[in-house]
Amino acid sequence: MTQLYNKVALIGLGLIAGSMALAMRRAGLAGEIVGHARSAETRATALDIGLVDAVFETAAEAVEGADLVVLCVPVGVMGTVAQEIAPHLAQGATVSDVGSVKKAIIDAVQPHMPDHVHFIPAHPLAGTEHSGPRAGFADLFQNRWCLFTPLPETDRASIERLQKLWSAMGANVEEMDAAHHDLVLAVTSHTPHLIAYTMVGVADDLQRVANKEVIDFSAAGFRDFTRIAASDPTMWRDVFLNNKEATLEILGRFTEELFDLQRAIRRGDGEQLFDHFTRTRAIRRSIIDAGQDTAAPDFGRGPKEGD
Ligand code: NAP
Repeated sequence: MTQLYNKVALIGLGLIAGSMALAMRRAGLAGEIVGHARSAETRATALDIGLVDAVFETAAEAVEGADLVVLCVPVGVMGTVAQEIAPHLAQGATVSDVGSVKKAIIDAVQPHMPDHVHFIPAHPLAGTEHSGPRAGFADLFQNRWCLFTPLPETDRASIERLQKLWSAMGANVEEMDAAHHDLVLAVTSHTPHLIAYTMVGVADDLQRVANKEVIDFSAAGFRDFTRIAASDPTMWRDVFLNNKEATLEILGRFTEELFDLQRAIRRGDGEQLFDHFTRTRAIRRSIIDAGQDTAAPDFGRGPKEGD
């Protein structure tokens, strides 16, 4: 594969940055990959396990001379990091991010970007409940979507170059408006995470069900909730604080539907329950048909992972 960037600087060296570094290396997409993370420990690990060629104590030093800078830090610190690196960005550099919300990041980052760089917000729809530099793996983005939310005035050639990078890392690329992205993700990711966090919290609070029973007899439904609810607390706090409007809108609808089903159970309305479950089963089928999940009963995890 052809090299697309001479020097890539990854700011934040966790799951997403680590996976990008490994995928870029495997396909020979970058001449040099450097990075910065907040703690000395993460920087040392990233260097040690060969994610990056060099690490720097500050983000400002890391971006010097880079033709691609990717912000891979929690959503809530994107703006601060952007402000710090701004005076050090190379002429013509592309600055991107991988944050899970887009409108709030554009508002926080764009005002700091000098005219001589191209800011291109993006979000790979790929992740696990693990975090940190050791959590990354080269196949994370394989057959997953990477959504771009570029501003209308952004240079097309720079957008297409970055899209080539994501395609070469295995992702399918699509463009959409940032507000639309935030609404779509509120439905497909953010609200489901909140529901999982709630359900696991409820089971934990339920004194009538001994803790041991919840763990020993945890059936597929609850087990899958616990996996989602084990996701990084910093990341998810920032997601909800920064996608407030869309999440509240979807939560409102969720609550109404939940009351509807609750009423159906109370009334013994089997027909309503059956119709509802038939509709949702078809949605599951279409996700599998689109290649976004596996039909295996254990979600294809196998005996090693997740159990
Ligand atoms: P992660 O594994 O927790 O890594 C976050 C990295 O950011 C760590 O290296 C951390 O350094 C660093 N960091 C935190 N605050 C910093 C600061 N103020 N200055 C410099 N570095 C800082 O997180 P991740 O899962 O890769 O997520 C990164 C971004 O990707 C987030 O914006 C998230 O919304 C987005 N995203 C995540 C997923 C997912 O499922 N995980 C999926 C798609 C997009 P230390 O280790 O030193 O603290």
